[in-house]
Amino acid sequence: MTGASGVAVVVTDYGGTITPLWQRRGDPRRPVDPYAAAALHVLRRHGGKRLIVASNTRTGVDRRPALRMGGVDEEFDAVFQSAPLRLAKPHPEFYAWVLAAAGCRADEVLWVGDNLEKDVIGPAQHGARTALVRRDGLRPREELPAGTVLIHHIGDLVPWLVPHHRKEETPWAGTHIGGG
Ligand SMILES: [Mg+2]
Repeated sequence: MTGASGVAVVVTDYGGTITPLWQRRGDPRRPVDPYAAAALHVLRRHGGKRLIVASNTRTGVDRRPALRMGGVDEEFDAVFQSAPLRLAKPHPEFYAWVLAAAGCRADEVLWVGDNLEKDVIGPAQHGARTALVRRDGLRPREELPAGTVLIHHIGDLVPWLVPHHRKEETPWAGTHIGGG
């Protein structure tokens, strides 16, 4: 289902994107943010979006137990992790693999993440649509590629991608979407 947005598949980064924004980088306990889990549930169950994880991982790190603990493992069609693949963002082949798995046109894929180079510029160069997740907005000297949306939390995708979803069911979902 693409709906009015034209988005059929949402590819999401893991750390800093669906983990709590209050966690420090490098914290080994990286559970899924319950608000992100709620958003992923709505995108899948109410919006009909297919979901894919695309995460750079260190050797020995597996995101799947955390996805299971967060109650979202069944929402995802595929989990791409760089360590077992021996390919990481921003390697072009990583994007090619994930976009092939999406099973739709690249411009029907929305790639979401907190890293401007790896989650936005790279996927955009491969034809995907992109959203940068930043609680505090852009950093000095950063510029968004044309068409990239800036959101504060992945939950901000819900009003955009699942506009028929009742807002009172997702009071945590902001409506702040900016960018160019
Ligand atoms: Mg990240």
